[in-house]
Amino acid sequence: MAISDHVDLPQFMDGLKRRNPGETEFHQAVYEVAANVFDFIADKEIYHSQQILRRIAEPDRVISFRVCWEDDQGNIRVNRGYRVQNNNSIGPYKGGLRFHPSVNQSILKFLAFEQTFKNSLTGLPMGGAKGGADFNPKGKSDGEVMRFCQAFMTELYRHVGEDMDVPAGDIGVGAREIGYLFGQWKRLTNKFTGVLTGKGRAFGGSPIRTEATGYGTVYMLQDMLLQAGHDIEGKTALVSGSGNVATYAIEKLNQSGAKVVTASDSTGFIYDPDGIDDERLAYLMDLKTNRRGKIEEYAREFGVEFHAGQRPWIVAADLALPSATQNEISQDDARTLIKNGVVAVSEGANMPTVQEGVQDFTEARVLFAPSKAANAGGVAISGLEMSQNSTRMTWTEDELQTQLRSIMANIHAQCLEYGSAPDGYVDYVKGANVAGFVKVADAMIAYGVV
Ligand code: NDP
Repeated sequence: MAISDHVDLPQFMDGLKRRNPGETEFHQAVYEVAANVFDFIADKEIYHSQQILRRIAEPDRVISFRVCWEDDQGNIRVNRGYRVQNNNSIGPYKGGLRFHPSVNQSILKFLAFEQTFKNSLTGLPMGGAKGGADFNPKGKSDGEVMRFCQAFMTELYRHVGEDMDVPAGDIGVGAREIGYLFGQWKRLTNKFTGVLTGKGRAFGGSPIRTEATGYGTVYMLQDMLLQAGHDIEGKTALVSGSGNVATYAIEKLNQSGAKVVTASDSTGFIYDPDGIDDERLAYLMDLKTNRRGKIEEYAREFGVEFHAGQRPWIVAADLALPSATQNEISQDDARTLIKNGVVAVSEGANMPTVQEGVQDFTEARVLFAPSKAANAGGVAISGLEMSQNSTRMTWTEDELQTQLRSIMANIHAQCLEYGSAPDGYVDYVKGANVAGFVKVADAMIAYGVV
């Protein structure tokens, strides 16, 4: 008899918590997947006897390293860098790098675990990984950021490669950081290969990579609404964040005829009842991306409300797109959104809703697209950047826009296949978890015990 015949979900989670003490974000991410997968595999002996869930929840490896660099005053600074390579069953490891003071092993293990299923959903050959450092780029000069990136890559380069592990950006890692990281990789290896994605267009980057996550999150929303007989046009939307994902989600929402009334950063949110139109969005992008300012400046510029230290979920709206960071929708926030009549939620950020909030949305029959499905557009275009780099070709923007739209539609279709309930409601969380799991699990079974 297989060991797992004796293990139920609480026992499985107890074991996971024992082996990964204190890693609460990682526990949360595994629980969300395991809760759905346990039901799905109940009558499928092969997944039990092969211990697939237990194996998927153990990263292939966790690499941690010291990053030493000098600041502008000549002081020696020390940070901790990581790369978590979760699973490469269906392709080379792939996932972003995050530079933020909150980065720790638990957060990167949760992100690498999620990435494995997300990448599987895209239909492209990519495994799951994530990395980063507890380095805070805020307030640092370009020279300091460059020296940090060079020191970080001086260790990371031995663990990555175009057919092994291909990192990208994430919070705190944008075009500037990817440029410095790629420059150092090239210097160390004397090779010009697609080892990073999200590169500048002049050196191997793909059209629409910057837009892809935000656009994809809105495509998912459109498909969910259409499936349920709603139209996005005329709907009011709440967006949190004002970085890469948030701003391009706002752009696509505007193009779709929705009205976005909020945006936020780590200091608070702005409420613009007339909508963040294209002109105001251009101001916001310049403020946050080029000038690296605080969102309060937007409120001052356009004479709208700024709510210091708060998140947008108290505002009544039809749609919510959390696009800042993990666990930014608490259970109370979810209940407020439901009370105010939210119709659909599409997660631009990774795991932005706490577990209890997800349950409340599901019970209230709110259309809810979890991050691994909703924000997969970015990594999908990264996967296509890898293909372009391998063939030394560049596809046109139109070709990539068409591919992105079709990949998101395909993810939506997979969620329908595995998540449709008898009453017609689509449980996108279940659909995404099971669809993402099956492909990775079947590949693992094919490899035997490795
Ligand atoms: P950016 O660094 O471009 O922007 C992050 C935004 O979130 C900023 O507005 C930032 O505010 C805000 N923020 C960060 N941390 C917090 C916090 N603790 N509380 C409140 N606000 C916070 O990152 P991205 O837009 O790239 O990423 C946002 C989310 O989307 C992350 O969860 C990321 O993992 C996920 N994601 C990103 C992808 C991509 O392609 N970029 C792909 C898939 C997922 P401030 O400016 O004040 O720091």
